[in-house]
Amino acid sequence: MSYPDEIKHLQESDREYIWHPFTQMKGWLEEDQIIIAEGRDCFLKDVYGKWYLDGVSSLWVNIHGHRKKEIDDSIRDQLGKIAHSTLLGLGNVPSIRLAEKLSGIAPKALCKVFYSDNGSTAVEVALKMAYQYWVHKGESGRNSFLSLKYGYHGDTLGAVSVGGIDIFHAAFGPLLFKTYKAPAPYCYRCEFGKTGGSCGQECLHELENIMGKHAAGIAAVIIEPLVQAAGGMIVWPEGYLKGVRALCDRYNVLLIADEVATGFGRTGKMFACEHEAVVPDIMCISKGLTNGYLPLAVTLATKEIFNAFLGEFSELKTFFHGHSYTGNPLACAAALASIGIFEKEHTLQNMTDTIALLESELADVSELPHVGDVRNKGLMAGIELVRDKSSGEPYAWEEKVGWRVAYKAREEGVLIRPLGNVIVIMPPLSISVELLKRLMGVIKKSIAAATNS
Ligand SMILES: *Cc1c(COP(=O)(O)O)cnc(C)c1O
Repeated sequence: MSYPDEIKHLQESDREYIWHPFTQMKGWLEEDQIIIAEGRDCFLKDVYGKWYLDGVSSLWVNIHGHRKKEIDDSIRDQLGKIAHSTLLGLGNVPSIRLAEKLSGIAPKALCKVFYSDNGSTAVEVALKMAYQYWVHKGESGRNSFLSLKYGYHGDTLGAVSVGGIDIFHAAFGPLLFKTYKAPAPYCYRCEFGKTGGSCGQECLHELENIMGKHAAGIAAVIIEPLVQAAGGMIVWPEGYLKGVRALCDRYNVLLIADEVATGFGRTGKMFACEHEAVVPDIMCISKGLTNGYLPLAVTLATKEIFNAFLGEFSELKTFFHGHSYTGNPLACAAALASIGIFEKEHTLQNMTDTIALLESELADVSELPHVGDVRNKGLMAGIELVRDKSSGEPYAWEEKVGWRVAYKAREEGVLIRPLGNVIVIMPPLSISVELLKRLMGVIKKSIAAATNS
């Protein structure tokens, strides 16, 4: 597609003008970088015309593959009508249709849709909504939140306040509001030193201890249901999620489920909460919502929460929050088409074979000498690499062992992005058995090469 001097110009301009997210730019400027020009299904093509398998769904957002005809058409169709009008004081057609659709597929009781643009803003909305809900109920002392270690809810300051990944969040400590942190149910590195059979849900008891002491000051518990994704694909043991819901009920605290990563089929069900029949009070969704086409997010709430904000204009119970692009019609049109594909292609049903294959491949990978743990829920998986398998001693993060694996995989035409020492596997849900086999083959080979095993 591009001529050599055009490619060279693009590479130079990227270095000259772009500040990449979550990227040490010194290293970036020194290395050769891949520039993507096109995509199709599960593949991305760089400016040289080389194709790569998209092993992390373009950062977890792509569900049905790239250049999906139904979504392309839906956006084109909407472009012929209007690209954007505001939801502040006006309605628009696609946002209404999408809200109706979402309240139909979300856990029952979540029937009110508040739009924003990305996962972090969906979380900000949830936090403000939860806090103000209690104020309207006459409880103005609920100005803190309870979240988990290794939790990740986005990069805006409210979301960082409820975050629990030191390497990302510690630097901003002085800017954050105070929250309570409970241990994560991270069984491979159990804080309580328990293993499978001996576990008495100590982490859940610790959560209860915190609630017992501080519930009157806590507006909500915020969690990533079933899989703490950015924290290292930490998959929860069965029953923990249900346990959190029960504690929220017992101590009268709201539950915010951040399904930004787990939503839209990732875990094998439309939403992760469904696995344990849990209905949160507030739910955040974004990543898979538009199949990665356009930035869009939703915070869903129950009628109980919504109703608390109803009042006379002069009472100032209004939810004073909104963004310029709230309910963007093009993005809503993309989301509507993407949800439609779930029904048309039976996306969730078709995942049975790929999930089974992923699990048997992971069992295979777990035999490698530097693989400490493998874990998955549906088509989201993590492989934790360790220096010493028997003790679980981790690699020092500065060694960038995850990146060494990712660079090896690139040579084999596979793009992945690790989380520290954890190799992430997050292909589009539409990936075929054959392609998943190839993806896992490359990952196995790359781990072996990068860890000299
Ligand atoms: C990615 C992510 C976010 C943040 O979403 P952005 O769109 O990157 O702001 C929030 N919560 C979870 C669970 C995520 O995985």
